[in-house]
Amino acid sequence: MKVSVVQDILSANDQLAMQNRELFDKHDICVINLMASPGSGKTSLILRTIDALRSQLRIGVIEGDIASTVDADRVAAKSVPVVQINTGGQCHLDAPMIQRALKQLPLADLDLILIENVGNLVCPVAFGLGEDLKVMLASAPEGDDKPYKYPGIFLAVDAVVINKVDLLPYLRFDVAAFRELVRGMNPDVRLFEVSCDTGEGIEEWTAWVSQERAKRLHGS
Ligand code: MG
Ligand code: ZN
Repeated sequence: MKVSVVQDILSANDQLAMQNRELFDKHDICVINLMASPGSGKTSLILRTIDALRSQLRIGVIEGDIASTVDADRVAAKSVPVVQINTGGQCHLDAPMIQRALKQLPLADLDLILIENVGNLVCPVAFGLGEDLKVMLASAPEGDDKPYKYPGIFLAVDAVVINKVDLLPYLRFDVAAFRELVRGMNPDVRLFEVSCDTGEGIEEWTAWVSQERAKRLHGS
């Protein structure tokens, strides 16, 4: 019985995700669902992405958190449209929450929406939001064993961004082994190595985002 309840919740979510998708298509908006554990640098990556791409793309942000507006405040300081979703304890965003948030964004004036999911490596993957791309951020201090512990997210994402690579000299994080492991699980995944502190690798990441946005515009 529990299983069928979960299936009902997921299929209701999928229907609303499809409606979100239609809205994004109508406005030619590329949407990225950014997932990671807490403290890996999701907000910092969003801020870096805004700085790098704002001259070519009109960017909006949806910030998902269990509580508080601290991340949304940092984004708002960049003068881009941002909506805060406080999930009130729920450990992931879902399509209905995004649908409500979209009512507060100027969709006709946006090219790219970055969604910061709640810090969690498990259930965000199960709830589609209508996004184009799922991206996982893995920070080097968290260790290189995440793919063993959370295979679901590594199988589901289009890209994995390794953040805080400026700290690699002080850590036991084997980048080559991590890359090989992730590619073995998900051969099509894109891998990026960045530091949101130093800016290293950000250009490669944002070039990919901008390419993916262009691909979707031309209806692939
Ligand atoms: Mg954050
Ligand atoms: Zn959850």
